[in-house]
Amino acid sequence: MDERVMAIELPKDRQVFLEEVQHRCGENLRLCYQCLKCSVGCPTAPFMDFYPHAILRMIQLGCKQEVLESNAIWLCVSCETCGTRCPNEIDIGLLMDALREMSLEGGYQAKERGIVALHNAFMESVRRGGRVHEATMLMQYKLRSGDYWTDLVPGMKLFMKGKIPLFPGRIKGIDSIREIYEKTQKQRTVLRNRGGKLR
Ligand code: SF4
Ligand code: SF4
Repeated sequence: MDERVMAIELPKDRQVFLEEVQHRCGENLRLCYQCLKCSVGCPTAPFMDFYPHAILRMIQLGCKQEVLESNAIWLCVSCETCGTRCPNEIDIGLLMDALREMSLEGGYQAKERGIVALHNAFMESVRRGGRVHEATMLMQYKLRSGDYWTDLVPGMKLFMKGKIPLFPGRIKGIDSIREIYEKTQKQRTVLRNRGGKLR
């Protein structure tokens, strides 16, 4: 073995986390060599507790709790900038989706206040109409989070200007969307019964 190369031996449970995340997102996370191009281009990185490249490194090192409790996984807006910049074509948007699901399934506490309530309100709005209806989504969010007053005035202004439609519509392919939700729900139930792990 080349003496200049230092191999890091991880305990088994730490290796399992990397395997599990890779399985969930379908990306080869071992390819990341910490070039930082993802973090430099990420629009929400300045607000994250760990930059995207750091999340990759922490997964490689098996830091499960730190990753699944980070606010970074919730502040990612899936803009795909990182994936297009990555020299190894790692799609971090997909990775963040998988981490959010794992965080919810494992009952981890999100550091960002109200973010899970917003996530659930968004998903419920899409399930109902096939796309987001801002008025009902915000109502759902406020009821779930108990945060009744934040952004109320700008929201009312937008509503008065007719920028937020009062009644939700439905897209043509709503049945297909609901089918996706049902399949995902079934998969989640299976996961829960297996203790939050896919394998
Ligand atoms: S997909 Fe997420 S992590 Fe990647 S650049 Fe966009 S916000 Fe940042
Ligand atoms: S751009 Fe790709 S290789 Fe570079 S740090 Fe980010 S994930 Fe790793």
